[in-house]
Amino acid sequence: MKIKHIDHIGVAVKGIETAGRFYTDILGLKIADIETVADQKVNVAFIPITDSEVELLESTDPDGPVAKYIDARGEGVQHVAFRVENIEEALAELKEKGVRLIDQAPRNGAGGARIAFIHPKETNGVLIELCQRDS
Ligand code: ZN
Repeated sequence: MKIKHIDHIGVAVKGIETAGRFYTDILGLKIADIETVADQKVNVAFIPITDSEVELLESTDPDGPVAKYIDARGEGVQHVAFRVENIEEALAELKEKGVRLIDQAPRNGAGGARIAFIHPKETNGVLIELCQRDS
């Protein structure tokens, strides 16, 4: 598989507005957009840094995955996303190598990306997302 670069780092926060101030007011970065991903029950704030982004993830539901993550582990880095050239090929290769996946097939993520997660048991506890974008 061809991994191009780190696409984004997903950070679980209790509130985008409060957490975002560090990135904007202190670091001088900009929130480019905020999008709701209904099936993940999150609002996502995109903070571009050259080829990558920090994505602040705020739960819209106390039962959503980000809310559960914060309940269990507190706010912080929740996942790292690698940009791949072809996500179907990447998933097929991982399955062939016997790697456990959370997503057997790509699904729609924030920002029009197609994404899939690798099981963190395979990666020493790091939740890794594969991410393909057309742009
Ligand atoms: Zn992500």
